[in-house]
This record gives sequence, structure tokens and C-alpha cells, in this order.
Amino acid sequence: MSSADRRIVVVGDSVAGCTAVRELRARGHEGAITMIGADPDGCYARPPLSKHVLKDQVAEAETWDLSDLDITSVGDRAVSVDTDARTVSTAAGADIPYDALIVATGAAARRIADPDQSGEIVLRTFADVRALRPRLDEARTAIVVGAGFLGMEVASACAARDIAAIVVDVDPPLERLLGPFLSEAISARAESASVDFVRVERPVTLIGDPVVGVELADRTLRADLVVTCAGDVPETGWLEGSGIADRHGVRVDERCATTVPDVFAAGDVTYFGTASSRSPFWSNAVAQGKVAAASALGVEPTCAPTDDYFWTEIMGLSIKVVGPLPLRGEPTVVEGSVENGSALLKWSHDDGRATIVAYGIKKPVGLLRRLARETAVPTT
Ligand SMILES: Cc1cc2nc3c(=O)[nH]c(=O)nc-3n(C[C@H](O)[C@H](O)[C@H](O)COP(=O)(O)OP(=O)(O)OC[C@H]3O[C@@H](n4cnc5c(N)ncnc54)[C@H](O)[C@@H]3O)c2cc1C
Repeated sequence: MSSADRRIVVVGDSVAGCTAVRELRARGHEGAITMIGADPDGCYARPPLSKHVLKDQVAEAETWDLSDLDITSVGDRAVSVDTDARTVSTAAGADIPYDALIVATGAAARRIADPDQSGEIVLRTFADVRALRPRLDEARTAIVVGAGFLGMEVASACAARDIAAIVVDVDPPLERLLGPFLSEAISARAESASVDFVRVERPVTLIGDPVVGVELADRTLRADLVVTCAGDVPETGWLEGSGIADRHGVRVDERCATTVPDVFAAGDVTYFGTASSRSPFWSNAVAQGKVAAASALGVEPTCAPTDDYFWTEIMGLSIKVVGPLPLRGEPTVVEGSVENGSALLKWSHDDGRATIVAYGIKKPVGLLRRLARETAVPTT
């Protein structure tokens, strides 16, 4: 079959899906491309949602224009896939045929409320931000469940509005991802901006209907606003029975191929190998979108399927990380000082690799990548 006859369907219209579509055309695919996306707000970037879009009342999500790519966009939810007939069915009843399928349905916010409990607020989509912003305008107190990067970004938005925020988690802020050294530095900075932390022994439950607080082992906490930032779950419901996904997500190999012929996957929905751990970050979704597209065309990918660059913005501080995570022990301070909120840090790992962190210091990502490469110790 020539490229012009090959019909490629991409399900999911966020960064992994849009990158895949762009890459398909960039690698010379001339055949039909159909992109199926369920979000009524269309294609947009999520990272700004918890940063300036959340803080700034008038800011809009950053949307992408794919009109130059000559694709068919279907604004609908994929509800099932038939891997024998090679069709994807949508909620509106369309059966869309494919020769190659790219699964890029990402993840949804993990909810912790009881199914019959109303008013749980999460942050995953632009619609979530539209619902959250007016609540931030009115709130004087807030509880944020989860001290990962998203929870800390929401706490930052609270601090910027002088809302007294309490962040509740079983682990110290960002420790699972960035390790104890940066966790302590970030906690100290947040506490000086009037953010409190409550460390719990087991996951909390939400109280009220609608939700008004959280139940801890020894007391309840209530606030004007409660936001759940308790991780995400891969969007695999529509793949049920197809053999493409399991309870961890969609397992892919180095070529972003799934275990089903001509089905590839990219982004937050995926995991590699047997580790069953996902790395739901932007740069990975971009890398995998490119690799899945190349594999769907049967050509060599131009990049690896993982990219260990991650960034966040907490309490007005930009933190950029290049290299393996999590970070253990103390770093070498290459430049500046953590106390002053402006430092370039390096962690050396046992396997010879290095992680470079720009902590509140302006450094281009390219430079951080180069430093991580150059300071790695080759293992022979
Ligand atoms: C608020 C927020 C802030 C973030 N900030 C950062 C950051 O600072 N740094 C960083 O590295 N990462 C950040 N991330 C993570 C990053 O945004 C994700 O890794 C990235 O969006 C993953 O892209 P994706 O395309 O795989 O999936 P998603 O972004 O989840 O998109 C999947 C798309 O598929 C659609 N979809 C789902 N199911 C179906 C279906 N059945 N049919 C049709 N369409 C479907 C959804 O509507 C969605 O548009 C952030 C995430 C969030 C939510």
C-alpha cells in the first residue's frame, strides 16, 4: 500500500496527538489523517492552565491551528475500537476505518470523591480552569489535596491571591519527584508565602455534599475551596476488550508500538516495558508523538521515545529539570544559591548520569541539556 492510500487515525487531540499529526505530514505522509478529539475547547496546551491561565482572569488557553495539515477533525469521543475490522467508533455513531491507529487519549484527573458526592474540583482541562477561577476570586481559605507539582501550582495561585492555603499529602511537597533537598527548599518558600502543609498517614477523604473539606485521622479541615490534585488516570475506557490497554495504561515499546499490529500510542496514556510506571510529562508526550507517527509510517524515528525535561512554576519560581528523577541526596551548587531562590544545581547518579536543575535561575533548556550530557560520567 502506498503512503497516499494509508488511512491514519489519531485519537486524542492534545499535545501527543497534535505532535503525531504534524510529524506524519513532516515525514511525507500524503494519505488521509483523521483526528478524533473529545474536548469541546479543541487542541490546547495544558501546562499554562495551572500557571498564568489560572492566575490571570483574562488569559486564554494556548490553542493550536492545524488547518495547514489537511486533516479531518472529528469533534467527538471515541467509544470503542474493533482491531479486526480496523475501525474506531465514536459516541455519535460513526465508524472510522484505519490502516494505522495512534492512541493519544492521555489521562483524566484522578477523583477521590464518592461517586454520589458532588462538588469535587480538579484541574485538567480548560473547562476546569473556567470553573476554578471564579472560586479563587471568592475564596479566603483553600485546601489543596496533593503536594505534587500540580497541587503546588494551585497553592501558588492561592498564595498570589492572598488565600490561606493548606496542602495535604502523605509525602512532603514534590518529594516523590524532586527528592528531599528540593522538597525542603520549596516547602520553606511556600511556608513563607503563608501556605501550610499537613502531612497525613493515609489518603484523606472529602467531606460534604457539595465538598467542603477533608477528613483527617484526628480532625476535619474545612475551607471555602477544596481542590483535588491527586494524580491522573490513563484514558483507556474506550479501549476495553481490544487488548490494547491494561489497568496501567497502554504498554508501548521503544517504537511506541502496542501489542496489537498497526496500533501505536503516545503521551500520558502510555507506559514502557514492564515497570508499569507512567511518566506523564509534556516532553515525553512530544517525543512519543513523533516516534508513534514515524512508526505508523514504517520509517525511522528522529528522536528517542522519552525526553527527561520537566518544568514547573512554584511560588513565582521557575524550576527546570533535565535528567533522571527522582533526586537523592545533596546537589553540587554550580552557580548561585538556593536560599536566594536562584541556583544552578547538579545531581550525579550512581549510573554516571547527571540531572541539572535551574532553580529560579534563567537558563535556556538547551544549555541545561548540554550540561546534563557533558557532566555525565561515561560508564565503561
Ligand atoms: C494543569 C496541568 C499542568 C501541567 N503542567 C506541566 C508542566 O509544567 N510541565 C510538564 O512537563 N507537564 C505538565 N503537565 C502534563 C502535560 O500537560 C501532559 O503530560 C500532556 O498534556 C500529555 O499530553 P497527551 O496528549 O498525552 O494527553 P492529554 O493532554 O491528556 O490529552 C488527551 C486528549 O485526548 C482527548 N481524549 C481522551 N479520551 C478521548 C476519547 N475517548 N475520544 C477522543 N478524545 C479523547 C482528551 O479530550 C484530551 O484532549 C501538566 C498537566 C496539567 C493537567
